[in-house]
Amino acid sequence: MSEYVIEMNHIRKEFPGIVANDDITLQLKKGEIHALLGENGAGKSTLMSVLFGLYQPEAGEIKKDGKVVKINNPNDATALGIGMVHQHFKLIDVFTVLDNIILGAETTGALGFLKKKEAREKVIALSEKYGLKVDVDAKVEDITVGMQQRVEILKMLYRDNEILIFDEPTAVLTPQEIDELMEIMRGFAKEGKSILFITHKLNEIMAVSDRVTVLRKGKYVGTVNTKDTNKQELSNMMVGRPVQLEIHKKPATPGETVLKVEGLTVPSKIHKNNAVNNVSFEVHSGEILCIAGIDGNGQTELVYGLTGLEKASSGTITLNGQDISKSSIRQRALAGMSHIPEDRHKHGLVLGYTLEQNMVLQKYKEPRFQNHGFIRFDEVRKYAEKLIKDFDVRSGQGPVTITRSMSGGNQQKAIIARELDRDEPLLVAVQPTRGLDVGAIENVHKSIVAERDKGHAVLLVSLELEEVMGLSDRILIIYEGEIVGEVDPKKTTPEELGLYMSGAKRQGKEGEANA
Ligand code: ADP
Ligand code: MG
Repeated sequence: MSEYVIEMNHIRKEFPGIVANDDITLQLKKGEIHALLGENGAGKSTLMSVLFGLYQPEAGEIKKDGKVVKINNPNDATALGIGMVHQHFKLIDVFTVLDNIILGAETTGALGFLKKKEAREKVIALSEKYGLKVDVDAKVEDITVGMQQRVEILKMLYRDNEILIFDEPTAVLTPQEIDELMEIMRGFAKEGKSILFITHKLNEIMAVSDRVTVLRKGKYVGTVNTKDTNKQELSNMMVGRPVQLEIHKKPATPGETVLKVEGLTVPSKIHKNNAVNNVSFEVHSGEILCIAGIDGNGQTELVYGLTGLEKASSGTITLNGQDISKSSIRQRALAGMSHIPEDRHKHGLVLGYTLEQNMVLQKYKEPRFQNHGFIRFDEVRKYAEKLIKDFDVRSGQGPVTITRSMSGGNQQKAIIARELDRDEPLLVAVQPTRGLDVGAIENVHKSIVAERDKGHAVLLVSLELEEVMGLSDRILIIYEGEIVGEVDPKKTTPEELGLYMSGAKRQGKEGEANA
């Protein structure tokens, strides 16, 4: 028998205007965790979709246990024991967890009562065996993203899949859920299941994988053993140039107050209490102030309150001396605020518009883009092309690409390009590097430091501890809607931050810590 459970040889897959996979080879050993690494748009999801039967390649072959197989659709993949957890989950919101898991895997027609009872027992047994905690009777729309992912994993196990594809599973998880997932993957591998694990995060690759295959711009770069490589080598392979993994910046020289927030309270949409409770702080020109915290402690609502996406119930917000507490979203933007939003689909882009239209969303009324009420399309095109080049925004058709069709990372780059180019005194950046690869992260970090060095004020909201420590000049920790501490990144440690973030430590009004 072949050494490999799966071999993908010389795979080619084209989309209009782009070769997403150009002569790619991937060999998966039985019982290994094989990481697939590459920048946004490198072709990872496409390759996995070919393996899962969602796309037909124009060239190349797939072998299972040494024999050539034809995978025409996901049913063929399932029959070969191949399962996939997609980057964007494919669950049905109004169905229960159990129904989602068994959907399509019913043995004969609709499930009778007894069959369903059996199915339920099998799901519960699997969930206990692998520590995949789910509530089988809950509706998918009512459960957390972490639990939805466990449902997707149980779906594969329920079908007895032996080859498990995880497409960027950690992007949506908290640090603790990530650890749990890695533990679960190790358990699968130990049982002899073979795992393909897509991620951008080099720490995760180093922690859990046996081998790594790197793709770049649709092409195969190489495969290495994890124990023989390191983060620097992997990022160089992925990006094709030496990447600077650490953030280099001069000490901050804070100036006058740009943003002043006093007693801001924002009600919660879901709960009866306040999501943000009586929060006060200032951001100065020439500094990066970071709001750090575990996801769900009011960061989202704080930014909503600042940017006008949500109405604050009390408090004042002053931007450059102007009271904007009652202003509309657009008025606040024009008063000097740019915003890289947390939810790029809802608040960052108009997905049905082209890339160039999205680039001028706030600007199209300016004289350079308008002449007697007519849009100057050539100027818009030129402007968009410049931003696309400067920020390396990759897409199939450049300025006329519909943004919905772009990869998430490139959508994010487009938003960042637009917001930084607006050149406003205040930048509010929420998880600006989420979903980006190391090369793009390096560029975004450099751009944010450049904003600061221009004398702009930056309010950064981040869940990534490394980013918080490396990028910010001052850190405020938010816990259950309140600021519980202020620390200097040069003097604190991840452990200390963790204590504040989990509520175990808190500073008094005078600024002393009391445990
Ligand atoms: P990755 O998963 O590595 O980020 P993808 O495989 O999603 O990359 O995408 C590779 C390239 O193919 C990207 O440029 C993307 O825009 C393009 N692409 C992916 N899917 C489609 C599609 N269904 N139609 C058109 N272009 C696509
Ligand atoms: Mg992808």
